[in-house]
Amino acid sequence: MKSKISKKTYMAIYRLLDKVSPIDKDCGTLCDAACCNCGGDSEDSDGLDFDLGIYLLPGEEKNFTMKEDWLKWNVEYAEDYDFPDSWFGKIYFVRCKTPPFCTREIRPLQCRFFPLAPHISNDGVLHLIISPVDLPYICPLIKEHIKLEDEFIKANFTVWKRLIKDPLIYDLVKMDSSSRHLISLTYII
Ligand code: SF4
Ligand code: SF4
Repeated sequence: MKSKISKKTYMAIYRLLDKVSPIDKDCGTLCDAACCNCGGDSEDSDGLDFDLGIYLLPGEEKNFTMKEDWLKWNVEYAEDYDFPDSWFGKIYFVRCKTPPFCTREIRPLQCRFFPLAPHISNDGVLHLIISPVDLPYICPLIKEHIKLEDEFIKANFTVWKRLIKDPLIYDLVKMDSSSRHLISLTYII
């Protein structure tokens, strides 16, 4: 799938998000890194959970060699899954082999955004919300309504403003946002 976002931009986004954290300490110490370690019951022959892998955004794979020994790669086809109609062709799905240990500088975007998620309201405005996705683990940041660092929120917002300039990513955020019309959302911005 052809992304309009260059490797240079993805690398810059990784660097920007490397500088911020949801709170002023490693939030993994609050929960034994639940979002990395959560086990599931649909494992493959390597003992890796299919449900809890991470889809990379279109073009994000450019930041990887695909030979990282801590990641297992699956190449899927967007048309086989519930992605926007504009998505067609290869998409990359990764799972961590050694959670919570990874090469932190190249951990995927999805690991960096959580617990925030982008949301485009009916009037077309970009917001950040607390991820409303049902999860098989408890994130203390969400459950205890812990205030997130302003710098983390600001960096996420900057990144999402850039990312949704890519039509494929815009379509994904719009589709996810539309699916939330019955859910009560926690807006951060
Ligand atoms: S984001 Fe939530 S679940 Fe993940 S490590 Fe931080 S507190 Fe734990
Ligand atoms: S890539 Fe790193 S941060 Fe992301 S889930 Fe795996 S171990 Fe956790």
